Amino acid sequence: MKEIILVKYGEIALKGLNKSTFEDMLQRNIKRRLKKLGTFEFYRRQSTIYITPPEGADIDEIIDRLQKIFGISAIQRCAVFPKDFAVVAENAGEYLRESLQDAKTFKVEARRSDKSFPMKTPDIQQELGAVVLEAFPHIRVDVHEPEVTVRLEIRDNGAYLSAKRIPGAGGMPVGSSGKSLLMLSGGIDSPVAGYMMAKRGLIVDCIHYVSPPYTSERARMKVEALCEKLTDWCGNIIFYCVPFTELQEALRDNCPEEYFTVLMRRLMVKIANRICAKYDYGAIITGESVAQVASQTLPAIYCTNAAAEYPVFRPVIGMDKREIIDVARKIDTFDVSTLPYEDCCTVFSPKHPRTRPDLSDILAAEASFDFEPLIEKAVAETEVKQFKYGTRTVELDI
Ligand code: ATP
Ligand code: MG
Repeated sequence: MKEIILVKYGEIALKGLNKSTFEDMLQRNIKRRLKKLGTFEFYRRQSTIYITPPEGADIDEIIDRLQKIFGISAIQRCAVFPKDFAVVAENAGEYLRESLQDAKTFKVEARRSDKSFPMKTPDIQQELGAVVLEAFPHIRVDVHEPEVTVRLEIRDNGAYLSAKRIPGAGGMPVGSSGKSLLMLSGGIDSPVAGYMMAKRGLIVDCIHYVSPPYTSERARMKVEALCEKLTDWCGNIIFYCVPFTELQEALRDNCPEEYFTVLMRRLMVKIANRICAKYDYGAIITGESVAQVASQTLPAIYCTNAAAEYPVFRPVIGMDKREIIDVARKIDTFDVSTLPYEDCCTVFSPKHPRTRPDLSDILAAEASFDFEPLIEKAVAETEVKQFKYGTRTVELDI
């Protein structure tokens, strides 16, 4: 039996972004994500994209990919029959079995866009309802709150029957809101933060700071593995790996230990500023959450934020760890995030960090050494690479 997939989209309310730009972008994203599975045909009508898969395609795999594409509100799987009600009626029981065998109530919704079809919409609904009742004697009709809605659409090129509507990922198509730079650590929070902003239509590329030999190659691989996981949701990701050792050593040697954490974060942000300017990013994203650690008090965030020249988005700022972990599990980053490799944040980290730093003290401490040449050097020596959608090249034992 031939099946096609209908993709519904919800939110296109954004002013300035017109409907066809949104639709083009969504369709382009879908095409890219399905490319490896064969040649698909696309057709758009009434806030729906009709996708015809190639012969023999793995529909479950297609649905799985579609469920990770932002901008899609629902996905509907349909059987395609010739435009002959008798043929639909003959096959409906079998095709709908999985959806209806355990359901208590249903209704039929018919639509007839081919007006030359001999039956009128109410007749189609009534007759298909009778077919369903005969095939599934336990089920009742409930037109107000049915558990399952059986849909039959008579179109120019066939009759489409479906009962399965799968929720989509929601949000806006990646790329429709601009480009952002995610400060990605190996922790639980920052991958979740990146996922959340990609959902709002941002392209999310990643910057990561490493301090060899204090941080290991394995720690870096862990972050690259997270980046690869994120491509399932974000599409291709550019990864900037910044050598941070000399800056951290300079901090350790020249500044008061109690300010180390905030000063280090400010240096990270200053480097992110340069990368944003150089590669045209409009915002920085972090995985900060108020009160989680010493560097995430209001005064500490104030001091870090003062170094930023771009808006800093912190989508998990008000979330509990528990809630962040739930999302990390859902997007499948949790198991990698909890591998025990050290982050550069923990290198030289003070025993008693100031939780209420004062910006003027911080600026004074920062002025005691000229970090500028080292910042320039770190930016110049930043390694850039790209992770492609759906790739798994980093091998880590979990
Ligand atoms: P996470 O779980 O994301 O690591 P966290 O709760 O451990 O966050 P911190 O380690 O204080 O908190 O880091 C706060 C934020 O700073 C991170 O969410 C991330 O955005 C950024 N960050 C920390 N370390 C790095 C790093 N080595 N490279 C890039 N960004 C980093
Ligand atoms: Mg961390």
